[in-house]
Amino acid sequence: MAATPDQPTPATPRRKVSRHRGEGQWAVGHFTPLNGNEQFKKDDDGLNVRARIENIYSKAGFDSIDPNDLRGRMRWWGLYTQRKPGIDGGKTAILEPEELDDKYFMLRVRIDGGRLTTDQLRVIGEISHEFGRDTADLTDRQNIQLHWIRIEDVPEIWRRLEAVGLSTTEACGDTPRVILGSPVAGVAENEIIDGTPAIDEINARFIGTKEFSNLPRKFKTAISGSPLLDVAHEINDIAFVGVEHPEHGPGFDLWVGGGLSTNPKIGQRLGAWVPLDEVPDVWAGVIGIFRDYGYRRLRTRARLKFLVTDWGAEKFRQILQDEYLKRELTDGPAPAQPLQAWRDHVGVHRQKDGRFYVGFAPRVGRVNGPKLVEIAEVAAAHGSGRLRTTVEQKMIVLDVAEDQVDSLVAGLEALDLRVKPSPFRRGTMACTGIEYCKLAIVETKQRGATLIDELERRIPEFDQPITININGCPNACARIQTADIGLKGQLMLDRNGEQVEGFQVHLGGALGLEAGFGRKVRGLKVTSDELPDYVERVLGRFQEERKDGERFAT
Ligand code: SF4
Repeated sequence: MAATPDQPTPATPRRKVSRHRGEGQWAVGHFTPLNGNEQFKKDDDGLNVRARIENIYSKAGFDSIDPNDLRGRMRWWGLYTQRKPGIDGGKTAILEPEELDDKYFMLRVRIDGGRLTTDQLRVIGEISHEFGRDTADLTDRQNIQLHWIRIEDVPEIWRRLEAVGLSTTEACGDTPRVILGSPVAGVAENEIIDGTPAIDEINARFIGTKEFSNLPRKFKTAISGSPLLDVAHEINDIAFVGVEHPEHGPGFDLWVGGGLSTNPKIGQRLGAWVPLDEVPDVWAGVIGIFRDYGYRRLRTRARLKFLVTDWGAEKFRQILQDEYLKRELTDGPAPAQPLQAWRDHVGVHRQKDGRFYVGFAPRVGRVNGPKLVEIAEVAAAHGSGRLRTTVEQKMIVLDVAEDQVDSLVAGLEALDLRVKPSPFRRGTMACTGIEYCKLAIVETKQRGATLIDELERRIPEFDQPITININGCPNACARIQTADIGLKGQLMLDRNGEQVEGFQVHLGGALGLEAGFGRKVRGLKVTSDELPDYVERVLGRFQEERKDGERFAT
């Protein structure tokens, strides 16, 4: 049964209603909406907006859309209004939302586990071409985003996506977002365990249902049995990380409460080992805690990480066991530190069935509709029917016979999709930025692409793993806090006292078992134009001074 403010889920223990408003936690009886977002979610479930899009808005046009649907519920179906072109970053915080809204949408296609068939990729490319002015970006959550979508075209886009088994359901909004999965699940030679069955079961049982369609905020999931720790599990609300239990065999180590944005937190281990077939129930228990106990008063404190921080891992596990699972969890080991720095699966790698997978890098995740179709065609021409997206804005072609590998690599390189990229192309990510994002202060995608080209030209001999992540605002859509060099977009004064686009620099972040957030270098800001000079200087100094085996983050 769905949990609503009027009708708590049966799993939710009824508590004495506290007199003061508290944090807006349903489990302690605080059902009165304490902000506009909670109000519109109470007024009507976000999933219900689909019928209005199909029956009213797509026929009557953009101006017919209810504002609470436009800037609220439409996210439940992967739709955000995009930024009106030509509004500079200085206006972002000043203008009203409706002044920033263009009459076009960003549409996020949900790709759980990053799994795509060549047919699916071709359909996304064709939709981009026909309805999205050829735009397409690979995101750092394994999704593909299109832009310039008109409300009139959305029902037809859904029809085409759903005909090949894709969807935009709960791709955005206060919902269980796309489930990250190892991009080489089921094929990697060194895999500890394949989490795909759990991803599929969670999708089938819970995604698009009203049981979890009104959460305090978004809920991010990662499931990977790769020893490379390849899904940035540390910064998800819940993560299942492949481990070998000394008595019970392969399973998952359970992490909760990770997240970035303005109060970044590394997830906490609960010390629990979860076998594959129990992952969906444990997932439902944790998201149930979030729905029922999560803070709903302030949007800035509504992610699960705040509850986990306040409770601590021990209490969180106890409540999960006592109130949601009704049983004890099994204690288990922590994952081991991966042996290699790159976790993106770029390059040519042997699969466990003797075939090969080939990972490749566009620049900062930017592709386009025709290119997606070409990727699908070149993969199919080399005998592959399957591709994967990664959390580093990269892609992988699976199931390539050994005698087809060289030809496929040549075909991808001819599309400017590098199988042997420079460390800069491989390690640089950028968020959407001011081109389309209403929260952005600076441009990011073109800036990132230019930075890659400049660094390749200036320091071609640089051969160390390096991550350079570029955000267009203080949010963390490109994970700046976990990069070797994190760049947070802001406006600043240049040498002439002119206001220009620039970045606050963070240095030394990392993921993996040494995960930690980059240090904000006080006072260190760099204008967008000076960015290549700055990064070149930092990397040059690192090359000169580093000791044997030292990585940038250490
Ligand atoms: Fe938009 Fe900021 Fe996220 Fe970039 S980091 S996509 S600018 S909200």
